[in-house]
Amino acid sequence: MADTALMSIPGQVDPVPVARDITPRSDGRVDLLGLPKARIRELFAEAGLDAKQAKLRSKQVYHWLYHRGVTDFMQMTDISKAMQPWMAERFVVGRPDVVEAQHSSDGTRKWLLKTNDGHEFEMVFIPDDTRGTLCVSSQVGCTLNCTFCATGTMRLVRNLTPGEIVGQVMLARDALGEWPKGRMDVSGTADEDTESEAEYRADGRLLTNIVMMGMGEPLYNFDHVRDALQLVMDGEGLALSKRRITLSTSGVVPMMYKCGEEIGVNLAVSLHAVTKEVRDEIVPINRKYGIEELLQACADYPGASNARRITFEYVMLKDKNDSDDDARELIRLIHEYDLPAKVNLIPFNPWPGAIYECSTPERIKSFSKLVFDAGISAPVRTPRGRDIDAACGQLKTAAEKKSRAQRDREAAAAEAN
Ligand code: SAH
Ligand code: SF4
Repeated sequence: MADTALMSIPGQVDPVPVARDITPRSDGRVDLLGLPKARIRELFAEAGLDAKQAKLRSKQVYHWLYHRGVTDFMQMTDISKAMQPWMAERFVVGRPDVVEAQHSSDGTRKWLLKTNDGHEFEMVFIPDDTRGTLCVSSQVGCTLNCTFCATGTMRLVRNLTPGEIVGQVMLARDALGEWPKGRMDVSGTADEDTESEAEYRADGRLLTNIVMMGMGEPLYNFDHVRDALQLVMDGEGLALSKRRITLSTSGVVPMMYKCGEEIGVNLAVSLHAVTKEVRDEIVPINRKYGIEELLQACADYPGASNARRITFEYVMLKDKNDSDDDARELIRLIHEYDLPAKVNLIPFNPWPGAIYECSTPERIKSFSKLVFDAGISAPVRTPRGRDIDAACGQLKTAAEKKSRAQRDREAAAAEAN
């Protein structure tokens, strides 16, 4: 039976409950996107297939879904002509709806997407010389309120389901034309599996990396993010290596160890400040889990090593966190906790209503040089897709045409009147 129990999201703002697992569509059909093979098998059995058929068909359908990107049961050629309409009557293979798709002059692509119940969220694809990175959202909005982040100003928050998370990767593959083509038969012989693996891993893929750095705090939607990434990492699914996936957290300390244990992807931490005073202000979760606790959790992160460093993200805000003293303190902290670390310096991407400015290029250079000279890699991330508002939360905010800062100003003005 479909399980529609509601779950709540931990955080500061009223969360919008989201159905757990499966909610049939208005036409009664169940969307298979985001479900693991065992769940598809259960659903097939519940719909009337005998155990043997349910096992075989779920294996075939799973392969078509995640390995081939096929959404139409009629195109699943190794499923009998009689079985195809039986499936199509009961199930669908969905994708998030595309509200808007933009293509930047520098190759960056950005999509404003919509869930079936009408909530908008974003996804960005950033190609460079050696890789193509998809920036994936985990929530609609964010319950945390980092003061420099457009997503933090959004009121509505709903966790994205595993289907909506993995659906972003699948949609990107659709758009980039990156599903393996050719003969398809999953009768289960080793030869055929090897053949499609080889085909799939062919060189020249555009989408090579995934970062959980879109809208939302992935560790506040842990189960769904884990389930989605398991489909992405599954050798029989999307087959992307965990070494090519990075999860970014603002510092949800109690979930970090679990993340390393149960997902095992690379970790990025939105540090952004090295003193309690400044981090409390710009990354308010710091009031709950302070810098020391956070860095200890980084030191304990399973799998971190010099070969798999933890990335510290550091947004460069003019006269806020960008002094040479800040850089020196950053170095001291990294050494104190003996962290295998690299630092990503991110020029602040301004948005309407933001109260910060980006540091000057000279300041960023000086900060970066100090960190580099201490033996820690500290590249400056080139801003990408500025012509299409590609920083997270910005397309959606632009679509809504109003930032919370604007709303607050209006509310203050109304009160004053
Ligand atoms: N919630 C998670 C992941 C999403 S944010 C986190 O905070 O880590 C992804 C990254 O983009 C974070 O490092 C965030 O601090 C950064 N970011 C958000 N808004 C930005 C802006 N306007 N300019 C530059 N970086 C920004
Ligand atoms: Fe949320 Fe991350 Fe933005 Fe902070 S930076 S408000 S945690 S999305």
